[in-house]
Amino acid sequence: MSPRDALLQTDASAALFDRARAVTPGGVNSPVRAFNAVGGTPRFIRSAQGAWLRDVDGNEYVDLICSWGPMLLGHAHPEVLEAVQAAVARGTSYGTPTEPEVELAEEIVSRTSVEKVRFVSSGTEATMSAIRLARGFTGRDVVVKFAGCYHGHVDALLASAGSGLATFAVPGTPGVPASSTELTLVLPYNDRAAVEAVFAEHGDRIACLVTEAAPGNMGVVPPEPGFNEFLAATCTRHGALFVSDEVMTGFRASRQGQWGLDGALEGWRPDLVTFGKVMGGGFPAAAFGGRADVMGHLSPEGPVYQAGTLSGNPIATTAGLTTLRLATPEVYDHLTRAGETIKAAAAEALTAAGVAHTIQSTGTMFSVFFAEGAVRDFDDASRTDTAAYGAFFHAMLERGVYLPPSAYEAWFLSAAHDERAVQTVLDALPEAARAAA
Ligand code: PLP
Repeated sequence: MSPRDALLQTDASAALFDRARAVTPGGVNSPVRAFNAVGGTPRFIRSAQGAWLRDVDGNEYVDLICSWGPMLLGHAHPEVLEAVQAAVARGTSYGTPTEPEVELAEEIVSRTSVEKVRFVSSGTEATMSAIRLARGFTGRDVVVKFAGCYHGHVDALLASAGSGLATFAVPGTPGVPASSTELTLVLPYNDRAAVEAVFAEHGDRIACLVTEAAPGNMGVVPPEPGFNEFLAATCTRHGALFVSDEVMTGFRASRQGQWGLDGALEGWRPDLVTFGKVMGGGFPAAAFGGRADVMGHLSPEGPVYQAGTLSGNPIATTAGLTTLRLATPEVYDHLTRAGETIKAAAAEALTAAGVAHTIQSTGTMFSVFFAEGAVRDFDDASRTDTAAYGAFFHAMLERGVYLPPSAYEAWFLSAAHDERAVQTVLDALPEAARAAA
């Protein structure tokens, strides 16, 4: 047990973590859950209700992870549970077309920029498939991405910038062959000159530019005004496709995702969009969609192959559909208000404790950087003081608030974060800020 875990009783989590490490690498099924970045023992959660998580030792926490975004309505929402239970009773997977997937596709088409949509089971699959489709549609191979944007563990996108601008990328992890990233170009985010330079040099080879619609995976870094529109226009000018990754921002940053905050207002559409998280209502569901002519290149209508045994699974699509139907404008107003209260209190507490910080938002999504000054790109985000965040994280955890165990993540809220949950966060902040000083 880490000394930081001293106050709360965590024996049952610690025992499960030991068992987990014996049979699973690092004891977890997705790396960030392991607390490697903050130290200590991850809490094993037994149940969750509304805004609250309950661990195997009986400790309760206000949940600011929300399953890394999906739980927009909070945990175990009664109407979602009811719809899912009814769906389960009808059988769990048929491998045939079903009504809920048509309804979910109609809901997504009605709320976003996409004309047609195809379901998959994870955000990784969505971006991987979108890139394949972009390559198949354009007959070109090169993909452009931004440093600090995460698009799942797709080989070609687990790439770090090579040395110098407009050079091809190197693998970001062992296990990805150089041949998988040698057609990927990595640029600094929010940097128009870099985008222009790369398209000037390689424009006729670029199949697509893929970007998080507003990065949330290096902390929240909003696109500078007009940046997404500029990317879309640049792609169009060079015959490349603009792929907007809304896996995190979709139905979260606003009711129409990040596109509702820029594209819908500025009057442009991405060629392809990827979705995940909220649209699965807590189940494994994701999607990619976009222009009808581009999507028409997908099998069986067109030649680009893509498939999935559990794609459009009836339980997942029912959960997603019910979640989206319940995600009314009032839900987003609530997220905005709760977020503003927490952001103001965090700023006050960190300022009072003399801790360098910057809070950034896009729509209802926000994050707290433990660094001074605006964060425009990955280099800026990398200045964050991860040791200070670790101390802050553990002090919050001891006081019943489960933040993301990494300094580079958004803090997620839900419609179920009521006054009691928000007050628990506010009460914990001053002492946690002092712990970070
Ligand atoms: N794209 C973005 C923007 C994400 O934030 C993530 C996951 O966090 C993914 C893609 C990958 O999604 P998944 O974890 O469902 O594979």
